[in-house]
Amino acid sequence: MKKIILILPLFFGLRLLAADFNDYFKNTFDEADQAFDQSFETVKKLQPLAQKHEFTFEQGTIKSIYWPAKKKTDKLLVLFSGTHGIEAFVGSSVQRWLVDQPYVQNREDVNILMVHGFNVYGFKNKRRVNENNIDLNRNFVTDRSTWQSDDSGYKKLNDYLNPTDEATYGFWANAKFMCNAVNKMVRHGLENLRNAILRGQYTYPQGLYYGGNMIARQWDLLNELIDKYVAGHAKVFVIDLHTGYGKRGKLHLLANGKKEGNPLIEIFTEQNEIDYGSDEKFYSIQGEMLTFFIHEINYKLKDKAPKSVGITFEYGTLDSQKTTGSIESLRRMVFENQNFWHPAQDAEDAEKIKNDFQEMFFPSDREWRKTILDQTEEKTKKILDWLSK
Ligand SMILES: [Zn+2]
Repeated sequence: MKKIILILPLFFGLRLLAADFNDYFKNTFDEADQAFDQSFETVKKLQPLAQKHEFTFEQGTIKSIYWPAKKKTDKLLVLFSGTHGIEAFVGSSVQRWLVDQPYVQNREDVNILMVHGFNVYGFKNKRRVNENNIDLNRNFVTDRSTWQSDDSGYKKLNDYLNPTDEATYGFWANAKFMCNAVNKMVRHGLENLRNAILRGQYTYPQGLYYGGNMIARQWDLLNELIDKYVAGHAKVFVIDLHTGYGKRGKLHLLANGKKEGNPLIEIFTEQNEIDYGSDEKFYSIQGEMLTFFIHEINYKLKDKAPKSVGITFEYGTLDSQKTTGSIESLRRMVFENQNFWHPAQDAEDAEKIKNDFQEMFFPSDREWRKTILDQTEEKTKKILDWLSK
């Protein structure tokens, strides 16, 4: 009996000492930001040549860590979190968790660049969009004529997507939304709807998936990073961390483009390991940050540009590959945006709208968090191996 009493506090003490994976998931911007500073301290101890980069503008500071490998190398892995602000809560956790993984710490020949909370306003305010309601993953257009894009499909749906009456929550509000969704689906077909809505629109500044009318300030950050860290490398892999779409608990590898001839198949060799934007379950978008970043690398560095490829890690939360899941996802997005512009009178309604939104992009479920970290490990190892080759 005495022994058990002695061992018990020891057992619990050790449990407290060992970092639990769930501790990486922070609930506020400030906590995540401080934890990222801590990660830099960890990195600095392992590699004194590591650097912290800070990009400061009106909305705050976007921090990045550049972490050279043990040996001199011209391979680089870049990880962005929070292109969609609220998705930074998971993205930041994944980045800081990776810093502590032995296979990342002990890698010999891949440099790492981590960009933390790219949409810092959305991260602080738990919104997906930035301070101007701009979806940064629809903003980075490589062809400027996109600002005058044809939004005719979206225009037909504008009243439904962006209601202007006061937000409410509850059985009737939800039922009305669902009925309208079914109605629209019968009239237009689910796939047409998905494409019209998700590809991005440049007409309604207060609407969902608004891409803006000029490029966001983060453009300067991308250029600084290219000049300072990407230049001089020969092979670069870019990951943009997202949450929300796809099968719950699954890490989807989402490529915005076609399957044929895609260099990503060299890395992800399993059948259907990659989801392509052109697949019917997913969607193509314009103004994607990742595509722009790679385009900008090639444009700036010209014949000295590294071979650069990238992919979106999309951690699914609401089974949006199914019809019911996709309507529910859209409902949460519409309600949140409506509540932002036309706030609910009832404080409880507003709270529930915000909660639903947060759960869609930052699930509180411990199991969900565990499974996405496990899959992140598997995919990251493949990428590190490919870079090392
Ligand atoms: Zn996203």
